[in-house]
Amino acid sequence: MSDFEKKWSAVLSQAPVLKAYKNYVGTWEKKIGSFLEFDPNRNVGKELPEGPLKGIPFAVKDNIAVKNFKLTCGSKMLEQLVSPYTATAVENLQKAGAVVVGKTNLDEFGMGSSTDNSALGKTNNPWDLERVAGGSSGGSAAAVAAGLVPFALGSDTGGSIRQPASFCGVYGLKPTYGVVSRYGLTAYASSLEVIGVLARNTEITKKVFESMKGQDPMDHTSLDHNPSGKSVKTIGVLKNTHGALSPEVSASYEATIKRLEKAGYKLLEIDLPTLDYVVPAYYTIATAEASANLARYNGIRYGHAPLFAENPTELMKKSRHEGFGDEVKLRILLGTYVLRSGFQDQYYVRAQKIRTAIRQDVERWYSKADVLMMPVFPTPAFRHGSTDMDPFQQKQADLYTCTANLVGHPALSVPSTLENGLPVGVQFMAPPFEEDRLFQVSALLEKEFQAPEAPGYLTDWS
Ligand code: GLN
Repeated sequence: MSDFEKKWSAVLSQAPVLKAYKNYVGTWEKKIGSFLEFDPNRNVGKELPEGPLKGIPFAVKDNIAVKNFKLTCGSKMLEQLVSPYTATAVENLQKAGAVVVGKTNLDEFGMGSSTDNSALGKTNNPWDLERVAGGSSGGSAAAVAAGLVPFALGSDTGGSIRQPASFCGVYGLKPTYGVVSRYGLTAYASSLEVIGVLARNTEITKKVFESMKGQDPMDHTSLDHNPSGKSVKTIGVLKNTHGALSPEVSASYEATIKRLEKAGYKLLEIDLPTLDYVVPAYYTIATAEASANLARYNGIRYGHAPLFAENPTELMKKSRHEGFGDEVKLRILLGTYVLRSGFQDQYYVRAQKIRTAIRQDVERWYSKADVLMMPVFPTPAFRHGSTDMDPFQQKQADLYTCTANLVGHPALSVPSTLENGLPVGVQFMAPPFEEDRLFQVSALLEKEFQAPEAPGYLTDWS
């Protein structure tokens, strides 16, 4: 264990340290609101298994099941739901000795890029409380950036781990599709999403991924992880970004390129002409799948039920009307629209064909480059309610991150620079199962630039 990990593993085992930790979290939480539920005591005193993460506390996005914790998905629909079981990914971490201390805020059902679509709380960016932490795993990113936990789990359907990681100055890994079991992850868009990790440094990101991954009989889309062990020599750098980057992100991107050159990597300029089609394809597929997945919330078996209804149809209608927020309703409507009979060829099937074209566009570079580099988001963290970044513009800004989800490849957001006091990340993408290539590049960059600690971050509790 590194000194950093040792420090964290003392938190839950030593009463005075635990007390200091709780005080620290309490103070920060008032400002950032990263947790929907926080209870480090729930596991105190329990015998922990010996493992690479023994005693290390972590937080879990509240769309991932942890037994005896709530599972709200940031929605009024599930506000009262307490999970009767634990997701396999979390269970694997518990077997490695790690301890869940709470559940973090998110955009309702993972739909958004700001966490402002949560129906249950507001999360602020620890770097600037007027700004969003990003989304949808904004609570997890804020908690890590503020030093409340060394790592947290998130889910990534179109960028929900990497975007908040970039906004908050932490590392964010979206693994290869299927390599981490999704059993216990509340479904939003099943062909795109995966559980991943937001963390303080490369080493712990890697450790958590290694402990979490693996085929699972409870998830038939899960796979064994078979990496090639290849070392990275050439990096394909996206130069034509198909849309303007803010001056801050441009400067940060250029700084990373210089660092990579200095580190001795061979850089190769790449282009991805299909980038223009990524967002339309993503939102067609994601909303289609969301409309099917969210059909289970009818207020009958579980979830929000209205006080009074004349008949089952009215019950269902009222439950959804009262239980879902606007963004979720919008996406269910859009998804139902693209799937309606007679129109599938025009929308859903077409989007799937575009998805194949995007995959081919990306894959052709892997014969020349070991990893690909592109931005995470066109801007640093934006302000709550910003008119420069309305919900439509936020969706358009998903182009760099959605690509990895559409093709199923692993991608990592790495803190790159601070620009005007705000962190900016850069994204690396690799062929399936090649997470290790991402960690190689990240570890090297980390030597040049340490992931910044948000102002007020405390490294010592005692
Ligand atoms: N911003 C994207 C969306 O709203 C991505 C969300 C996610 O990855 N869960 O769908």
